[in-house]
Amino acid sequence: MSQEVSQDMSQPTESALQGLMMDVPLLTSMIMKHAIAWHGDVEVVTHRVEGDMHRYTYADAYKRICRLARALEGLGLMPGDRVGTMAWTTHRHVELYFAIGGTGHVVHTVNPRLFPDQITYIVNHADDRVIFLDTTFVPLMEDLQDRCPNVKCFVILCDSGAMPETSLRGAKCYEDLLQAAGEGDYDWPQFDEKTAAALCYTSGTTGNPKGVLYSHRSMTLHTMSACTGDHPLGLTSRTVILPAVSMFHVHGWGVPYAAPMSGAKMVLPGPHMEGPDLCRLLDEEKVNYTAGVPTVWIGVLEHLEKTGGKLPYLKIMNIGGSAPPLAMIKAFEEDYGVPVVHAWGMTEMSPVGTTGRLRARHAELEGEDMYRVKLTQGRPIFGIEVKIVDDAGKALPHDGEAVGQMYVRGPWVAAAYFNDAAATEAAFDADGWFGTGDVASITPDGLVRISDRSKDLIKSGGEWISSIDLENHAMAHPDVVEAAAIAIPHPKWEERPLLIVVRREGSDVGAREIRNVMADRVVKWWLPDDVVFVDEIPHTATGKISKKDLRQQFADYRWPDI
Ligand code: AMP
Repeated sequence: MSQEVSQDMSQPTESALQGLMMDVPLLTSMIMKHAIAWHGDVEVVTHRVEGDMHRYTYADAYKRICRLARALEGLGLMPGDRVGTMAWTTHRHVELYFAIGGTGHVVHTVNPRLFPDQITYIVNHADDRVIFLDTTFVPLMEDLQDRCPNVKCFVILCDSGAMPETSLRGAKCYEDLLQAAGEGDYDWPQFDEKTAAALCYTSGTTGNPKGVLYSHRSMTLHTMSACTGDHPLGLTSRTVILPAVSMFHVHGWGVPYAAPMSGAKMVLPGPHMEGPDLCRLLDEEKVNYTAGVPTVWIGVLEHLEKTGGKLPYLKIMNIGGSAPPLAMIKAFEEDYGVPVVHAWGMTEMSPVGTTGRLRARHAELEGEDMYRVKLTQGRPIFGIEVKIVDDAGKALPHDGEAVGQMYVRGPWVAAAYFNDAAATEAAFDADGWFGTGDVASITPDGLVRISDRSKDLIKSGGEWISSIDLENHAMAHPDVVEAAAIAIPHPKWEERPLLIVVRREGSDVGAREIRNVMADRVVKWWLPDDVVFVDEIPHTATGKISKKDLRQQFADYRWPDI
């Protein structure tokens, strides 16, 4: 396995006097062991895929994680083998995180919302040997299994006696597997903390998705950071957290690791992420902390407005993944009395990079002055170094004016992509810093303000849509001469794609026919919400479509149905 590492920053530059402290490897198995030792009675509550509620404690979870670890031994896995999961935010998925990583295998969270070709690509690229999946995704994997020949068996996350009829290879029932594995503590192996623990693919750009391979060390450090006071999560044993984040999105922003480390009660929404379900859980479980992308909070706000509901228990709302609009921050703060903490991060950063927790100097700000601070992505958390550079790679000042490409480094930032030398080569600079693809300025106060993405991606409901892919597929229609997709703000989805098309002369092809051609090639939610026809698309000096000019041209565009 060839692994391109842009720079080995782990080696000291010269020998120095060694400290005399224990060399205990940072392994994710430590986290669950700590949780059962000191927070064993704390609850994990799940709104199950099946629709009912499930509740148990960390002590109960640990017993099942031990069973699962034993069951994995029986599946013929070798150390380091990748084990896929295609699952919602549930207690079973948490069990998988800890059992797979803790036994020296790699938990690969597959995002089921990707296009089928991307799913088969990542399952094969990761070389997943076994896939654990929720019943929701059984039909999808039945269609794809022949294209993933190295997956030896599929384990369905269902109750005993509730196995669906399926053609999946070697299909097993999760609960039966656990039952057969037998009771008792598990002797968790000790190994090098740099061993891989988890794998996520990011599909942020065109071309193939890229794998980020987290180590036990990076995961444990990221988790420890999440339990510090100024971190956007900042979990404690008094927290009741509802991660309104899919566990196939950068391991649910790290909550499933940070909650057991801190002893926080975890409330897991399963697939039930609509406003009414979330509001019910927030209320019934007295959730005081929650985190998610803006789209999820739009649903919550709509439901609250419709029902006259309140958020009496919530003390903090963490919004990230996309920039929340000012109206949303104000609504939570002013109408519901819930302070918003804005944060920024990336799959390549495990994911957290900045925090919007106010410092003493900002805490006394009021009104628009405070919102100006809250609208920024906040300041880097300890462990994350940030720089902005110009096109020549020269560092730019933190004066709030200079805008440049943002680079980062730190102990939970990727040093390379998994088995992808070309992507690695493109993403890291000569000093080993990772290029985020975001364009930002940094104020003298240390606040990062992301102004744009360098790659013109469209972020819809927390998921990426590649504008270039859309353009390519639109061009598959014989009457489309040129097509460009740009992001237009959308009140529910943050952004949705608008397709701008130059028609073949004399053609009267319409939006519907173009969308029909595209529908054979991309998932439904990628399809442009509107298609507009123009005589000419602006180009840059090097002949590329000028997205900058297009955005200006369509700055006043409004969605027809809104
Ligand atoms: P992902 O790897 O899918 O989590 O996407 C990471 C990208 O999402 C970042 O590079 C940013 O472009 C965007 N992003 C994440 N958080 C924010 C935020 N708070 N504000 C603006 N963009 C964000």
